[in-house]
Amino acid sequence: MIGRIGEPSVIAETVFRCSSCGVALPAPGSTQFFCPQCGEYRIGRCARCRDQSVHYRCGSCGFEGP
Ligand SMILES: [Zn+2]
Ligand SMILES: [Zn+2]
Repeated sequence: MIGRIGEPSVIAETVFRCSSCGVALPAPGSTQFFCPQCGEYRIGRCARCRDQSVHYRCGSCGFEGP
C-alpha cells in the first residue's frame, strides 16, 4: 500500500435503487417517479414493493406514501 492517497470514496457508477427495499433498478415490473410533494426526489419502486404497496419515503422532503 504505497503511494495511493485519497481513494475515491464515491463510486462513479450510481446505482438507482428501490426506495423501499433497496433492490437495484431498473428491474422487470419496476417503476420510478418523482416525489408527488416536492417533485425533486426520484423514487424507485420494484415490482414486489408495488405489488405489496410498501411505503416509500422521499429523501428530500420526507413525504411518505403508498
Ligand atoms: Zn422494492
Ligand atoms: Zn419529496
